[in-house]
Amino acid sequence: MKKILLTGGTGYIGSHVCIELLNKGYEVIIIDNLSNSSIKVLDCIKKITGIKPIFYDKDIRDKAALLKIFNKYSIDIVIHFAGLKSLTESINEPVNYYDNNITGTISLLAIMTQVNCHSIVFSSSATVYGKAKHIPIRENSPLSASSPYGQSKLFIERLLQDLYTSDDKWNIAILRYFNPAGAHESGLIGESPNGIPNNLFPYVAKVANGSHKRLLIFGNDYDTHDGTGVRDYIHVVDLAKGHLKALENIGTFKKVLVLNLGTGQGYSVLDIVKAFEAASKQKIPYEIVERREGDVSECYADPSLAFELLNWKAEFNLSQICNDAWNWENKSSKDYDI
Ligand code: NAD
Ligand code: UDP
Repeated sequence: MKKILLTGGTGYIGSHVCIELLNKGYEVIIIDNLSNSSIKVLDCIKKITGIKPIFYDKDIRDKAALLKIFNKYSIDIVIHFAGLKSLTESINEPVNYYDNNITGTISLLAIMTQVNCHSIVFSSSATVYGKAKHIPIRENSPLSASSPYGQSKLFIERLLQDLYTSDDKWNIAILRYFNPAGAHESGLIGESPNGIPNNLFPYVAKVANGSHKRLLIFGNDYDTHDGTGVRDYIHVVDLAKGHLKALENIGTFKKVLVLNLGTGQGYSVLDIVKAFEAASKQKIPYEIVERREGDVSECYADPSLAFELLNWKAEFNLSQICNDAWNWENKSSKDYDI
């Protein structure tokens, strides 16, 4: 069975992908510097799948460490999750973000080139569409970035395109995630942000369990059905399954594969509050405040290309996302505070 290297594999999305890979019989090797995840994830993966993945507490900018790992395992395919991901933080720490995300990716690609490993799946983001003119957003929509985080994703996408142009034996898939949410149905793994969450879902979960008093809703004067921002929330397990499809098909397209992974359905902040109240049976107090700088009014995917090319589409609905997020919040989330 193929050997898959997951950079950032103890993180939120990587750990869910790891479970799907182990369940399908792949051998998984993880490199993560644990800057935004906990080593405890490995035991939870073992509880769920019966297998503990091979793990290295290493930074992807450490080329010597990468080389040793690639030489030891003859990796077939890399799924590259490792990176810093907060848009707001990236505005305050641009050097850290560019160094971690761009230098890290260059280091990884240099070693992959050296050891003749030419297959990579990259975690990109819907943030590369900036303020899209046409919604739902298709892959050929114009690209732009309003933050160092977004710039780093755009730069890496460009770098991967250039790499393929230079040598078409590379097999490259770029997956543009919309808004991953929810958790594994076991409640053993999920999203565990450091400190006060920036994203809507983890914040709402903390309000529902009483650790935060109220949700601040960033603006209710957008041009949407109730005035609050609309996004495409995709269950993290659906997202994980999309990676497996990309992996199984990598190399079958004579180009860099660029795909949206989203549901195609937009929900507003108030829709999420209502759905989470139903799942948690808790009231979620909120206050409307000013718009958050840089936010767009709505952003949701046209996911039809992923269906056409990979026969993949999201299966979970919003209520399942909320149920699983709430189960995780109650069962394990606090055990993961880093
Ligand atoms: P996460 O922070 O939970 O996981 C990323 C992991 O990478 C963490 O475990 C962290 O410790 C590790 N890491 C960071 N820098 C590293 C380095 N230099 N060397 C080794 N390990 C390093 O984030 P996530 O939500 O799982 O996101 C995974 C990827 O998906 C990221 O690249 C992110 O930008 C992208 N993405 C995430 C979202 C989202 O909303 N979660 C949306 C779009 C794209
Ligand atoms: N949002 C909010 N309060 C919060 C966090 C987010 O009102 O505490 C809104 C935000 O303005 C956006 C939506 O929820 O309309 C999703 O925000 P998130 O940060 O989760 O994702 P992104 O903006 O990156 O798509």
